[in-house]
Amino acid sequence: MKSPQSLLAVHSRVAALCAGAALLAACGSTSAPASPAPASTPTASKPAASAAQPASLAASASAAAKPAASASAKPSASAEAKPAASGSAQAAALPAKLDVVKLGEGIYGIQAVKYGMNTGFVVGDDGVMTFACNPADSWDLRFAAIRSVTDKPIKWHVNGHTASDDVGCNPDFKKMGATIYGSVKMKEDYEALWPDMLRAQLNTPAGRQIYLNRSTPTPPDVTFADEQVLNLGKGREAHLIYMGKGHTIGDAIAWMPEQKVMFSADLTFNKGHATATRGDSINWQKILDRMIGMAPNAVVTGHGAITTSAADSKEVMQNLSTYFTYMRNQVKTLADKGKTVEDIKKEIDLGPYKDYPAPTADAIPGSIEEYYREVGGK
Ligand SMILES: [Zn+2]
Repeated sequence: MKSPQSLLAVHSRVAALCAGAALLAACGSTSAPASPAPASTPTASKPAASAAQPASLAASASAAAKPAASASAKPSASAEAKPAASGSAQAAALPAKLDVVKLGEGIYGIQAVKYGMNTGFVVGDDGVMTFACNPADSWDLRFAAIRSVTDKPIKWHVNGHTASDDVGCNPDFKKMGATIYGSVKMKEDYEALWPDMLRAQLNTPAGRQIYLNRSTPTPPDVTFADEQVLNLGKGREAHLIYMGKGHTIGDAIAWMPEQKVMFSADLTFNKGHATATRGDSINWQKILDRMIGMAPNAVVTGHGAITTSAADSKEVMQNLSTYFTYMRNQVKTLADKGKTVEDIKKEIDLGPYKDYPAPTADAIPGSIEEYYREVGGK
């Protein structure tokens, strides 16, 4: 186990060419963030709200309120596919601040709104470690949320996976001197996806507003094949652990074993649809079993409410596993009747999940394609 200082030495093997900022699609899909999903999807603008806006807007610690930044608009759908249209609709007002949830001594979660990506951070003796960050909703609010708790420098930024809502702030953290961490597979994924994703992002006004100044490729400086430990201080040892392919090929979590707090990135979705577009829902369930076995007392989920009890943490992971079983069964039932994958996208019964918010416009149809492959469809 190395100290963060010694790890910094490693960080020279930097960024090659691509990779970069946005990876732009939220949540591992290659299309863009879309909250809310377009009216044509079953999740549309439904009541979803309750899940989409957890306890967040309420009260809690928090940020020196910054006015909703001008760079507030969410990037619209992946350019080529869905030109500007949805962009303006998504320029929804952001709150004055994001809630910061204290999860342990020196460990916090930033609760996103509208089923956006949550951010975790640990205040160490010498600096701050952050985990997953989406500049679209927004960098200013997230940074203010961290600054509401500590003035220490942000020295370590960890990516849970490759998608704009996780790696989108890499350039911001890098500029302030942070070393970026991610799994080996995550970095490969980033470098493969970056050019197209940035291009798509810059193709829309909303995307340009957010990513024009974040177009420098900023992949992880330090990668780990299995596990990397950062000693941030007493009770705040952070284990960065590669979990295998669930949501994406590069999925990693941060695990603070002394206080049993987990930052899961998009390996957990709380009361909303998950994105398996570039994932493997069967292996994802095995990963969830492993995470349940770690018995966290709190989880900074990828999307949806951050959990603050062991019971809720376990429930989120169990529910997500049940969700995958349900979705695959629905897809298989229709496939067995001879339905094509396109038919299935239209006819699937979302059952208990019909009012769930979706993280991106293509989360449900894109994931159905993956479930279809997994149940043996062609
Ligand atoms: Zn996401």
